[in-house]
Amino acid sequence: MSASSTNYQNSSFDVIVIGSGIGGLVTATQLAAKGARVLILESYLIPGGSAGYFERQGYRFDVGASMIFGLGNRGTTNLLTRALEAVNSSVDAIADPVQIHYHLPKSLDLKVERSYDNFLQNLAAYFPHEREGIRRFYDECWKVFNCLNQMDLLSLEEPRYLLRTFVQHPLACLSLLKYLPQNAGDIARRYIKDPQLLKFIDMECYCWSVVPAEMTPMINAGMVFSDRHYGGVNYPKGGVGQIAQKLVEGLEKAGGEIKYQAKVTKIMTEKGSAIGVELTNGEIYRGKRIVSNATRWDTFEKLLPVDKIPPNEKKWQQNYQKSPSFLSLHMGVKESVLPQGTECHHIILEDWQNMTKPEGTLFVSIPTLLDPELAPEEYHIVHAFTPDWINDWQGLSASEYEAKKEETAWRIIDRLEKIFPGLDAGLDYLEVGTPRTHRRFLGREDGTYGPIPRRKLRGLLSMPFNSTAIKGLYCVGDSTFPGQGLNAVAFSGFACAHRIAVDLGL
Ligand SMILES: Cc1cc2nc3c(=O)[nH]c(=O)nc-3n(C[C@H](O)[C@H](O)[C@H](O)COP(=O)(O)OP(=O)(O)OC[C@H]3O[C@@H](n4cnc5c(N)ncnc54)[C@H](O)[C@@H]3O)c2cc1C
Repeated sequence: MSASSTNYQNSSFDVIVIGSGIGGLVTATQLAAKGARVLILESYLIPGGSAGYFERQGYRFDVGASMIFGLGNRGTTNLLTRALEAVNSSVDAIADPVQIHYHLPKSLDLKVERSYDNFLQNLAAYFPHEREGIRRFYDECWKVFNCLNQMDLLSLEEPRYLLRTFVQHPLACLSLLKYLPQNAGDIARRYIKDPQLLKFIDMECYCWSVVPAEMTPMINAGMVFSDRHYGGVNYPKGGVGQIAQKLVEGLEKAGGEIKYQAKVTKIMTEKGSAIGVELTNGEIYRGKRIVSNATRWDTFEKLLPVDKIPPNEKKWQQNYQKSPSFLSLHMGVKESVLPQGTECHHIILEDWQNMTKPEGTLFVSIPTLLDPELAPEEYHIVHAFTPDWINDWQGLSASEYEAKKEETAWRIIDRLEKIFPGLDAGLDYLEVGTPRTHRRFLGREDGTYGPIPRRKLRGLLSMPFNSTAIKGLYCVGDSTFPGQGLNAVAFSGFACAHRIAVDLGL
């Protein structure tokens, strides 16, 4: 059914989802597959949010994510594959043989290969005196993963599911309960003493959690550090945007609907319950349940009256703060720029002191090494990005903003030249995105990558699930359990849909 032919306003939906990030899409598709009447309202032109794409001069760039977990074909943690399957859809996944090629201080140059044993061997070659500690730390991560990977991952807020899972997998559940309040850094320090190696473990965590190991929940670390060797990192043919596109196709086939350029400005409440939403143009849509895929800051400070923010949300904000956003360079480059054997994903850091600083850690993705069709023949896409705060980009005139973008871009290109000599000369296309770009196009407060702990917390214990203090309102996406990353927000989508399905008696 096409968006324009539907008179949405006169109908009441079972579920209205604000936003079509992967969290929102998984919630919507799961519910549509169960027979719920679902409408997604998306402010942008296409679905996907941070997992969307844009096209320029024959290049198809991923907006953000391109190191994709959850597209494997075994176990239970391959949540993107499972979400697509639920609506009879799929994407062609291209296996990436190396998760990351690290270029770190003191010439620590290491590739995280898909084979676990090769990875351990490569790391132990740099730290032979820590061979045993390395294995014990990463083996402990496998314990977490093996527990998760035997159960259906649904809503931890649903007592019957918890009971059923406990009866089916009592030992795995007890083990996960043990890890839930723990952070990866504490476990790493149990086995590893070498300060350089501990810094490496910090980077292993920082590159997806944007905090060092001592603040990174062990559950998330267990997932990432093991799944890369199990389901592996896989790139969707046609670009990351395909995942969202295919979920939308599945949603529509299952009877769900999506409306683009539909920015929600208000969540309507009646007697304390969420009952509908209002768009920028004044249109109103009613639903039995409302799901926000916007960040918690956007949901509780913009879509609801800021003076009525529920106490538990205030508490959450005392525990978590917004992470920085990113400065992104989307480049089209000549093939000759990339040395033979270049891998798809790189992390570059010259000085450990700068790991968490703006413009410190530099992330690079070259997805055309896996799918050449995303660029014209003999050219590649290089997406380089580094954490940056919005404050540094505020209050500038248009010309100052452009000049600052240019200056920053060349600083980054200079750093990249050390690994990709001739990058400047081989540059065919360059577009620079700032934290302001992320805020504007992704609808995320300050362009944040998501919540990070303000101080060391007890693992994932204080990360909220999907239901909220406002009856009928749920949150999904990276500011709910278990956090950032496509597979993680898919988990949040499965959990949110499950909770709502039970609440609606589906
Ligand atoms: C530069 C970058 C690189 C990344 N790299 C990786 C990676 O390699 N691997 C990985 O797994 N993850 C990566 N991530 C993280 C991952 O992309 C995110 O964690 C995930 O996509 C967030 O999904 P989400 O469902 O929470 O919502 P989002 O992607 O934020 O989507 C929310 C959607 O809601 C819409 N919306 C918001 N407010 C409204 C409103 N009021 N009305 C209507 N619509 C609204 C937005 O337009 C958006 O489409 C990266 C992120 C970035 C920014």
